[in-house]
Amino acid sequence: MADLQIENLAKAFKGGFTALNGVSLDVADREAVFLLGPSGAGKTTTLRLVAGLEDATAGRIMIGGRDVTRWTPRERNLAMVYDKHSLFPHLTIYENLAYPLRIRKMSDADIRRQIASVAETLQIEKLLERRPNQLSGGQQQRVAIGRALVRDADVFLLDEPISHLDAQLRARMRVEFKRLQRDFRATMLYVSHDQLEAMTMADRIVLINKGRIEQIAAPQELFDRPATLFAATFIGEPPMNVMQAVISESNGCRFLRIGEAYIEVDKDWMQDGEALRPGDKYLLGLRPQHLSLCPADSTHACRVNGTIFAVETLGSRVVFDIDVEGTVIRAMSTIDAALKYPRTIGAPISFRIDPDFVYLFDA
Ligand code: ADP
Ligand code: MG
Repeated sequence: MADLQIENLAKAFKGGFTALNGVSLDVADREAVFLLGPSGAGKTTTLRLVAGLEDATAGRIMIGGRDVTRWTPRERNLAMVYDKHSLFPHLTIYENLAYPLRIRKMSDADIRRQIASVAETLQIEKLLERRPNQLSGGQQQRVAIGRALVRDADVFLLDEPISHLDAQLRARMRVEFKRLQRDFRATMLYVSHDQLEAMTMADRIVLINKGRIEQIAAPQELFDRPATLFAATFIGEPPMNVMQAVISESNGCRFLRIGEAYIEVDKDWMQDGEALRPGDKYLLGLRPQHLSLCPADSTHACRVNGTIFAVETLGSRVVFDIDVEGTVIRAMSTIDAALKYPRTIGAPISFRIDPDFVYLFDA
């Protein structure tokens, strides 16, 4: 195993399109770092540059402290898993797993030992004599991952390895993967567009958008303290509500006005190191989980009044889309708490804002 460092990586494709711009990140020895972002963000390009399948326009790639930017893929000693399991259809599962080891001229005895160990961890011992078309999609993917793991690679690169599987299988693979990672303790750069995958499996997440890094943080920190509006709205389900807000002042107190509600601005509230001033405009972020429904006749100062725009019931939770002066705000409630409130479109409803869970971004 080894650590991986990417410094100021850039990639402009022929025709001038810049897919990556100044990307720097590092993966510590035996760490699982997730590169997360929407489609087209530059995730696959980053992985292909690290693998040596694509030349960097600028920047440096270091593996185990050595500059490998100009090395061939083979010299870099990486193992890669793609979204489509690329097993050889005419070979048995055993031979598929043995293939990368034979290329490296490992002895038959060592190959047998290595495959036995990986097959046990992946629970594919009983499948070794089958061919890929005799396996389910999940089993095939497990073998593809196994084929990467049998090699003694310095770094593992995975490009959406489970995203094409159905939801149930994906959930199982997430758990399995965590277990595998614990057993193998591999240095891993894992690409995904699925926040759930990254949030549940990553040691750290690198959030990327339009070829630039938005934030690097541990999963919970990314949720609790998003650094940018993009990070705030990309992470979290349902997504964070965003609306305009103006700071106003009366009797020496500062407030944020939302609809008819006033939230007192704490003295400690700062934005970019500066205290908030009356007249300042911000984008206000509120997570649906942090808004609680309340009766329309309550007198809470942080109460916002609106009307029901839509209601979605999701098993144990209910999502209320609430129209507040033409802006739809989403509030999430437990099914028990929701029983007290109307669900008719157009009916009046109110919710309360918890001042401890208010995010501000520059407008
Ligand atoms: P992601 O994996 O995050 O979905 P990619 O890294 O595949 O994104 O692509 C990033 C951007 O670079 C996209 O806009 C894509 O169209 C563009 N791109 C990728 N490969 C090439 C290429 N070979 N030539 C030109 N543009 C490319
Ligand atoms: Mg991709």
